[in-house]
Amino acid sequence: MRGTIIYAPGDIRSEERPDAAVTAPTDAVVRLSATCICGTDLWAYRGMEPIAEPRPIGHEYVGVVEQVGDGVRNVEVGQFVVGSFATSDNTCEICRAGYQSHCVHREFVGTAQAELLRVPNADGTLVAVPGPPDPDLVPHLLAASDVLGTGWFAADAAQAGPGRTVVVVGDGAVGLLGVLSAKQMGAERIIVMSRNESRQKLALGFGATDIVTERGDDGVARIKELTGGLGAHSVIEAVGTQESMAQAVRSARVGGHVGYVGISHGVELSGRELFFSGVHLHGGPAPVRRYLPDLVDRIWRREIEPGKVFDLTLPLADVAEGYRAMDERRAVKVLLQP
Ligand SMILES: [Zn+2]
Repeated sequence: MRGTIIYAPGDIRSEERPDAAVTAPTDAVVRLSATCICGTDLWAYRGMEPIAEPRPIGHEYVGVVEQVGDGVRNVEVGQFVVGSFATSDNTCEICRAGYQSHCVHREFVGTAQAELLRVPNADGTLVAVPGPPDPDLVPHLLAASDVLGTGWFAADAAQAGPGRTVVVVGDGAVGLLGVLSAKQMGAERIIVMSRNESRQKLALGFGATDIVTERGDDGVARIKELTGGLGAHSVIEAVGTQESMAQAVRSARVGGHVGYVGISHGVELSGRELFFSGVHLHGGPAPVRRYLPDLVDRIWRREIEPGKVFDLTLPLADVAEGYRAMDERRAVKVLLQP
């Protein structure tokens, strides 16, 4: 099969690899209809995460089940499925509480930019869609695999809802789908912090009501100005840097909620600032599996179009160009066709 290997920062290659295979009775092998490049893949690509040795990469996927292990009961060969980047049994106490991304049997997916993918914990991870999807639905279903599910969790953790003002820090795919999620949850006002015109346009299309281009102290001041001096009820943090996290905490009002889903890189919070902020913080790796049935349903009924975040589609063999395009911010998110 064709698969993707990251060798070093800036060095991504498409190569012939051994076919993915069932190695445990609870595995499934999925022939991918589409996969994609995530903002989090860029941390390694940009040298901000160590690469000990060349390794496969990719964690977003949809496709058709090709093979299942002897222990798999809920998933059948031939079904079109969506799964999360964190696999889960969906039966342990943590899963039943809705935190499948922290499942006691969790294994992260990390080989998905390929033609075939082995999915551990297949029964508790994969969600079959009602039938073979129309081709135009595939990008939307793919988005549910991570960026939509993550944006949804962030909006949920931030308690977006009717009557609430939501600030979104970060205009990448997750931030943009945080806008869509907050809109679906009935938020009254959605303020997106962005300086990029094409991303602003997408955000407005997903339901943003205001754009703030300022950052740092000026950004906080602008949010305060737009919220009667109080700050927002709900803040989605979708970047993971010191600046973005500080922006998020300081944009929330007393008693407000911050949902943080940008993987933290060097973020340090001042205990004293937290103490006096009076905000709720909740986040981490999103339990996408919790939301998948609902999200698939909304996509299937054509109520939401999260796949609009894909603004570049390339053959899987051209994955290196996809990384360059995202690194240089020429593309919001790149879909790869195996
Ligand atoms: Zn579990």
